[in-house]
Amino acid sequence: IPVDPFDLVIFGGTGDLARRKILPGLFRRFCAGQMEEDSRIIGAARSDMDSEEYRHFVREAITEFDPKTKGECAHLDEFLTRLHYVTIDALGETGWAELAELTRSDKVRAFYFSVAPRLFGPLAERLHLHGMADGESRIVVEKPFGRDLESARALNKVLAEHFEENQIYRIDHYLGKETVQNLMAIRFGNMLFEPLWNSQYVDHIQITVAESVGVGGRGGYYDRAGAMRDMMQNHMMQLLCLIAMEPPAKFNPDAVRDEKLKVIRALDPVREEDIVRGQYEGTEDLLGYRREAENPESTTESFVALKAHVSNWRWANTPFYLRTGKRLRERASEIAIVFKDAPHSIFDEDAGRHRNILTIKLQPNEGIELGVTIKEPGPGGMRLIDVPLDMSFAEALGPEEADFPDAYERLIMDVIRGNQTLFMRGDEVEEAWAWTDPIIAQWEDDAVPPIRYATGSSGPDDALMLMHRDGRRWREIK
Ligand code: NAD
Repeated sequence: IPVDPFDLVIFGGTGDLARRKILPGLFRRFCAGQMEEDSRIIGAARSDMDSEEYRHFVREAITEFDPKTKGECAHLDEFLTRLHYVTIDALGETGWAELAELTRSDKVRAFYFSVAPRLFGPLAERLHLHGMADGESRIVVEKPFGRDLESARALNKVLAEHFEENQIYRIDHYLGKETVQNLMAIRFGNMLFEPLWNSQYVDHIQITVAESVGVGGRGGYYDRAGAMRDMMQNHMMQLLCLIAMEPPAKFNPDAVRDEKLKVIRALDPVREEDIVRGQYEGTEDLLGYRREAENPESTTESFVALKAHVSNWRWANTPFYLRTGKRLRERASEIAIVFKDAPHSIFDEDAGRHRNILTIKLQPNEGIELGVTIKEPGPGGMRLIDVPLDMSFAEALGPEEADFPDAYERLIMDVIRGNQTLFMRGDEVEEAWAWTDPIIAQWEDDAVPPIRYATGSSGPDDALMLMHRDGRRWREIK
């Protein structure tokens, strides 16, 4: 279904994110027929180039970064005619009059701030100054949204001076993943799961976001952030919220975000003994964290594992174990809902005991799997084994239906449609910082280096102990 005609201005339209995600994503939506004829994309950045040069730049980006079409789609030339470029200075006067002339008030106007957060304020201010923003226009802002509660509040304040909350789209691309939305469909669209979705039946929940790569060229940024700021405060917290939240009365932006906010507010402070931080070591071929980050004394964590408690009626005594890190064994992200053992086993001891696990896989392939216990086939008596009831979308829906849009594609189209459900509200972001701030502040005060772990491992052994001491274990990263 096409979206209303729009002018989308990408501030930072020549940057890494625009090249890798935003522009290839828009191209795929174009190929899918979602962009009406008079919709336009306007790149706006500091580099001095004209629209023709920008089209060339975008052609190269799509050829390199669109894994599906590699730019081979017959529509690429047509797509490029929708592109324009304005050289602009967010901090000065260059380009603003030209941009104002280009953007049209009779179309949906969206402004993507794909630039450093320090430019958010100046951009918002100039959009108003030059009459480009009104009550209908939208702005999209990227992570990181602040580095602590104070800076997040300051950013919210500066944006609120020029835009209403319902015009501000704070991106967390995890929320754009098809399977993450499916988590809500599974929970709230079925009778089967919701009655069991509480501490009476769920033993614990595990969320793992494991990356096999190191910080690479992002070392400078990452060393000032660390895993807690870069992953935990935003992506992992959002996943936790979607699992833990109460059913909203409606699937609308504020109803969903109100429920997520209540979850964050119900989180207990994390105890010191319930958190493990790590930093990867190098190998013969690969640099260790400190060398990659070019900071020999760095005490920044590239891994963090913790046990969180959502202190409310539904989740009392059901821990949430979260871990994320770089240079781990595999790139693998999943959420596992581990149900309790059946209360009584009617089978012999040697039949074995098994539990149901609902796994929501986010990376590398998206899908949902429910582990159920059955009898091992054959004449060997009653022995139990686990088999997955596999909800592989590709098989169930056919490859075409399962050809999910990338998270960015979906989210950008939601901006044009004016649907904020999958974007973070200002108060959510602040609450999430309020929860992580004391943890980070303690680390920064102590300046104790994180535990070193081997590249290609599953993180520090202490992270394994975090669960072992509760009689549980992490699912294998594979
Ligand atoms: P980048 O450094 O590659 O690009 C920055 C862009 O901003 C360039 O187009 C540059 O011309 C423009 N710019 C810089 N100063 C400007 C000014 N004064 N006026 C106008 N334009 C100016 O950055 P990036 O990696 O594309 O990141 C952009 C934003 O997205 C940042 O907030 C970043 O934190 C966020 N982000 C990036 C990634 C990623 O994978 N690259 C992932 C998540 C979030």
